Amino acid sequence: MQGRLHRNLRRTRLTTAPTLQHLRIAVIGGSLGGLSAACLLRDAGHDVVVYERSPIELEQRGAGIGFLKASYRYLVERAGLNLDEISVTTENIRYLARNDDIAHESQHPYRFSSWNTVYERLLAAFDRDRYLLDAHATEFTPVPDGIRVTFEDGNDIDVDLVVAADGIRSTARTQFLPNTRSTYAGYVAWRGTVAESQLPVSVAQRLGDAITYHVFANSHILVYPIPALDGSVAPGERLINFVWYRNYLEQGDLDDLMTDRAGEYRSISVPPGLVARHHIDEMRSTAAARLPNTIATAVNAVTDPFLQVVYDIEVPRMRFGRVCLIGDAAFAVRPHAAAGTAKAAEDGWVLDRHLQSHDSIDDALDAWERDQLHLGSSLLERTRMIGARSQYDNNWVPGDPDLIFGLHSPGDKEPT
Ligand SMILES: Cc1cc2nc3c(=O)[nH]c(=O)nc-3n(C[C@H](O)[C@H](O)[C@H](O)COP(=O)(O)OP(=O)(O)OC[C@H]3O[C@@H](n4cnc5c(N)ncnc54)[C@H](O)[C@@H]3O)c2cc1C
Repeated sequence: MQGRLHRNLRRTRLTTAPTLQHLRIAVIGGSLGGLSAACLLRDAGHDVVVYERSPIELEQRGAGIGFLKASYRYLVERAGLNLDEISVTTENIRYLARNDDIAHESQHPYRFSSWNTVYERLLAAFDRDRYLLDAHATEFTPVPDGIRVTFEDGNDIDVDLVVAADGIRSTARTQFLPNTRSTYAGYVAWRGTVAESQLPVSVAQRLGDAITYHVFANSHILVYPIPALDGSVAPGERLINFVWYRNYLEQGDLDDLMTDRAGEYRSISVPPGLVARHHIDEMRSTAAARLPNTIATAVNAVTDPFLQVVYDIEVPRMRFGRVCLIGDAAFAVRPHAAAGTAKAAEDGWVLDRHLQSHDSIDDALDAWERDQLHLGSSLLERTRMIGARSQYDNNWVPGDPDLIFGLHSPGDKEPT
């Protein structure tokens, strides 16, 4: 961890009760949820430092995200970015039949961006000197009027508030809720991107103006355009992104899938370039045999597909004294509402609002927890229902308004 700032923080142990205007806040985890909260709380006048366990800045090659308002609100309202320069729009929701005919089409605008685009912009909006890499938090201990964070390297800091944005395997959640477990949803997402320019023109055009679905027995796939790796959003220069949900039996099937090319078992994701070749071969031949040609062409043009396992995590509490769990550290929801990043960002917006509107930190955190427990559990329930319809019940009806993306409800006032 960068030494000087850390030592300075270490020396300034808490001596007085904090005011709500200038709290010392440690954000644990420097991904999209942590960075959004850090930017907002810094803007409100707090003394914020982000501690990220990774030794290098984060990178998720080729991950597209449905871009709901909470995810872009900071970048547009506070960082002054032009939404059209950080995301692409589609106008239609389109379902293709196996023979490539249009099975259903309706007009509905969506925005899509990429994980890298959002991360880079949020990091640029924060203070890099206060974004500490190689800082792995291991323990949280209450101290008078605050909380002590201990790091793997033996250092510790005392702060007024910890925002734990440390993701699906959260250290904070494991400490405070040791019995809360992630539950495997029964399926994984195969994912990948290919440059529009590498696809036949007819395929790129057909996939470029819509979110395109194909639904078949116990599975569905969606395809949409996202910004290129260099951030370009110009048609013809973008990437086409696919997410294909496929069922795998726990243990045998899943364990083999999640054992990478080097023989290492990975419980959450297998990154591009490391998925075992026999599974890529199987996925490609299934795509050719089962998917509409337009979609199969895009899937099979992806050089390095990757995998993410779909887990549910549900927590009964999000606040433990001076520690708040936000984003996937609290509720990990299935991706079917495209709202995971939006929920993580919203946790930060609502925390900021309650800290500004209460005189006592305890009252603010209690009010925040009530709101965000409701959001997390309702979103989890909705996404479980959507997943079950596609992967198990086989009653996903193209065009059903319940399937529209949204954070608070299907289609909630998106996009602006
Ligand atoms: C298949 C799939 C598709 C998805 N599609 C979308 C979509 O379209 N739209 C959308 O909004 N969301 C989507 N999501 C969800 C979204 O990716 C997550 O909800 C979101 O990234 C969570 O962000 P986070 O900051 O809470 O956690 P993470 O991104 O997991 O970040 C946690 C960070 O904490 C760090 N960390 C962990 N432990 C420690 C520690 N002890 N000390 C310090 N640092 C630590 C990690 O290194 C990491 O950087 C999708 C998810 C999946 C699986």
